[in-house]
Amino acid sequence: MKVLGIESSCDETGVAVYDTATPGAGGLRAHAVYSQIALHAEYGGVVPELASRDHVRKLLPLVRQTLAEAGLRIDEIDGVAYTAGPGLVGALLVGAGVARALAWALDLPAVGVHHMEGHLLAPLMEDDAPEPPFVALLVSGGHTQLVAVDGIGRYRLLGETLDDAAGEAFDKTAKLMGLPYPGGPQLAAMAGQGVPGRFKFARPMTDRPGLDFSFSGLKTQVLLAWRGSDQSEQTRADIARGFEDAVVDTLAIKCERALEAAGSDVIVVSGGVGANKRLRAKLQDMAARRGGRACFPRPSLCTDNGAMIAFAGALRLQAGQHDDAAVHVVPRWDMASLPPVAVGR
Ligand code: ATP
Ligand code: MG
Ligand code: FE
Repeated sequence: MKVLGIESSCDETGVAVYDTATPGAGGLRAHAVYSQIALHAEYGGVVPELASRDHVRKLLPLVRQTLAEAGLRIDEIDGVAYTAGPGLVGALLVGAGVARALAWALDLPAVGVHHMEGHLLAPLMEDDAPEPPFVALLVSGGHTQLVAVDGIGRYRLLGETLDDAAGEAFDKTAKLMGLPYPGGPQLAAMAGQGVPGRFKFARPMTDRPGLDFSFSGLKTQVLLAWRGSDQSEQTRADIARGFEDAVVDTLAIKCERALEAAGSDVIVVSGGVGANKRLRAKLQDMAARRGGRACFPRPSLCTDNGAMIAFAGALRLQAGQHDDAAVHVVPRWDMASLPPVAVGR
């Protein structure tokens, strides 16, 4: 089954074709992402109305480009998947409207996908993917969650952030040290030049039981360290390294706890912060020590993309699930309320 996937929940327009006839990485026939970062940079954050309008401009050209790259005509597609939520309502409506119109015109089944289920399942698009049950760490710009995955569509929240998401903490910390929006990836690159241990920050909430996170206090610690420093390039790198080590250690400690609580040795990681090199290495070490493994999507599929939506949608469409023809989006949506997918992949 060849599924066209459309992502437009925030500031990335993503389109992809996933073909279930060739599972694993070979199933991804083509994918393209257009990032609106430059559009929003001067405002220091995403402006919802500008985001919606840019999705309108970019979506159809991106659909044409992706189909051309996949070597497919639009009438060779068997189903359509689009992000129905959570996200910015106007942005979601653009993707849902285009997806619904295509499905109606081509008489195809279409399904609204939960954006975080898309992130969660992205590692399963790669070769040698694990089968549930496993534990998932979702670390993106808006979410930090540990989820017990009992099956596709069967998700139990084990813990989540009480304030900032991990990606948000990276972006805000970068900003207060003068890096342009969104500074997360730049902060991580800078940490690579930093001296480990020169600045030591707390590992929040690791000294008590539980699987919740809190990252907002780290910002304040960084702010105080930055203000009291010489503010040289090397110091900025050293603080970045101290911050990254604190976030990575905290995530790794909680992941190991979650594996113990769930009785699993497989951790699946996704969302933008999943692209972080030090996090990938640390979680791989932790899982290997337990005789298990840590699974990630390739870095380009950690951040928002259409491939994860095509893939998650394909699993549901294949199981016979689809939505009615209404253009319906769900800006706030609990992943635990999703229906299970009974059939295996
Ligand atoms: P959500 O999925 O929760 O709605 P989002 O879609 O905005 O949020 P993603 O696109 O998954 O989030 O990820 C973007 C986030 O990932 C940003 O906060 C960015 O700073 C962070 N990020 C990306 N690359 C890295 C990296 N190498 N190290 C740390 N953080 C990173
Ligand atoms: Mg984004
Ligand atoms: Fe996302």
